[in-house]
Amino acid sequence: MTPWNELLANLAIVAISTSLWTFGHRHVARYMPRYKSTAFGIIMAIGTICAMSLPFQFITGVFLDLRYTFLAVAGFFGGPVAALLPFCAAIVWRIMGGGTGISVAIPLILMATASGLIAHRFIRGIPNGKSIVIIALAVVFSGTAGFFVKIPLEKWAYVMPEVVAPFALLLFASTVLSSLALSQELKRQEATNLNRIYKAIIEALPDCLNAKDLDGRFIAANPATARLMGAETSADLIGKTDFDFYEPETATLFRADEETILRDGSPATIEQRFTRTDGMETWLSTLKAPFADDHGTLIGMITHNREITDRKRLENDLARTQRHLQNALASMADGLAMFDTSGRQVFSNNRYAEMFPLTADIRIPGTCLRTILRTAIERGEEPAVSGNVDDVVERAADAFLRPGDRQMRLADGRWIEVRTRTSEEGGSLIVFSDITKTKRAEEELRNLNERLEIMAHTDGLTGLLNRRSFDTALQNLVSRKGSGMPGPGLLMIDVDRFKAFNDTYGHPAGDACLKTVADCIAASMKAYPNSVVARYGGEEIAVIIPHCDGGHATSIASFLCAQIRALQIGHIGSEKGIVTVSIGTAATGSDLCEMKVLLRSADEALYAAKASGRDCVRSVIPASSAALNSATA
Ligand code: GH3
Ligand code: MG
Ligand code: MG
Repeated sequence: MTPWNELLANLAIVAISTSLWTFGHRHVARYMPRYKSTAFGIIMAIGTICAMSLPFQFITGVFLDLRYTFLAVAGFFGGPVAALLPFCAAIVWRIMGGGTGISVAIPLILMATASGLIAHRFIRGIPNGKSIVIIALAVVFSGTAGFFVKIPLEKWAYVMPEVVAPFALLLFASTVLSSLALSQELKRQEATNLNRIYKAIIEALPDCLNAKDLDGRFIAANPATARLMGAETSADLIGKTDFDFYEPETATLFRADEETILRDGSPATIEQRFTRTDGMETWLSTLKAPFADDHGTLIGMITHNREITDRKRLENDLARTQRHLQNALASMADGLAMFDTSGRQVFSNNRYAEMFPLTADIRIPGTCLRTILRTAIERGEEPAVSGNVDDVVERAADAFLRPGDRQMRLADGRWIEVRTRTSEEGGSLIVFSDITKTKRAEEELRNLNERLEIMAHTDGLTGLLNRRSFDTALQNLVSRKGSGMPGPGLLMIDVDRFKAFNDTYGHPAGDACLKTVADCIAASMKAYPNSVVARYGGEEIAVIIPHCDGGHATSIASFLCAQIRALQIGHIGSEKGIVTVSIGTAATGSDLCEMKVLLRSADEALYAAKASGRDCVRSVIPASSAALNSATA
């Protein structure tokens, strides 16, 4: 009996089992995805039993089958679960079969299963040709190892060519064929999965993706392309061109772009603008890539479109806003500069450079504020500094970059107000305003106020303090009681025969005379620093000397009389022939009295001096209100 029938049957079982799995595994994966390995194991187990049921014998009494292929392939492609089922089936079947070879058969079954599992453990991904050959050799070894144990050496010359070699070849061939079929199926499965993923991505892609043939007809397109073109489904695009969807001018332009790409043969990204059927102006960023067949012949092009209308609109708005901002900044009266956190200039307007002509060349983006300040000092734009320049520059830079308002004076006298605010990015935005005019106006106002203040207290003709100031000063001194010092002394001075002077020389000359007398008294009283000289009214001048007793007041008065006399101002209307003054003095001494009493006393004393022939001094002690010592000058 020839073994070929069983041999072919064994091979057929391997082929059928493998085919059964390659056709059926998709259904298993769909309906029982968790039992895929088990199902594979069951098929391999059935195959094992079938193969073991139809053994073939090359020589009488030696029954062989292809169980090892099933055992190894199950573990190799299906892992431990798939390996366990054929393994158990083979063991059980072999034990049930009985016979003498069990002790050798079971380790061989174990070896074939283990080789499949080891290969499964160490070979990642889809097995390649090399790993298939290795597993096939392992199967050959498992299948033929029994011969080495059982067959005595003298029989090998016969057994080797007649049994072992053909069987080994058969095991090798069946394992390789089966593994190739299964790995091909795995590859196909992987490709299908990848295709499904790509398809899902392309379908869900918000961007347009399509392929066209050389004539610009759609071969494939995703739904986004259909939406852009205004077609209901992507299937509606197939076989059509841009001319079926766009205005002829637009379609012609698009076609021209495509022809350029096809001619150049390399991918390119272009921006396309067109008006949609609903009238909306649309911008597309388009990548076009030509593609070729396996022989390198150009067969079409792939197009990827992204609608960038919103981006374009934003870009245009931004450009317009920037233009407006530039114009606004250029026409600003203030200088504006922005510095980053490290103090480097990042932005400025023209006015900023114009405000600092000596350093305009370095006030540009990238320059450090410290360099600008140092150069401004070196070139004399900012006032010279005393002390260490680096320290001054460091302090100034810190102040500039810190939020706040400050004023600085340039060497040319201009005043600049510097306002610093922190920007959102943490840098400093600085506004420089020329406030020289305001500063000048402020100064003028201050001077004016000072003048007004002086005018409010001085007499316009003589330049002495006026009556109001005199009253205030006297009141202050009189009311300062309890100091233990003498109170103030008061001198009331009146120009003698002054009416006659006016009548003789005229009123302007009278004014000049009065001014000369006032200047003389003021100059003479300079020796008494705290004394007060005021125009009391008309041609009367009053002098207050703080802490002054009666004798002292009288001697000062006599000195003043002599000083006026020494002026030698001619006065023919006076019996003296020159301008003279009469002085009445009153001093409170330590017996302080009211201001009006002091005034009345001085007035009385003056009256007494007039009565005594003028050009003399008389005193009255306020408390007694009586004229006492008289002294002619
Ligand atoms: P007596 O020696 O008694 O003081 O005589 P008198 O002429 O000086 O006194 P009287 O009070 O009669 O005259 C004061 C004069 O001083 C009258 C006035 O014309 C003059 N007079 C007062 N104020 C001014 C002034 O501001 N300028 C001028 N030119 N004359 C003044
Ligand atoms: Mg008078
Ligand atoms: Mg007079």
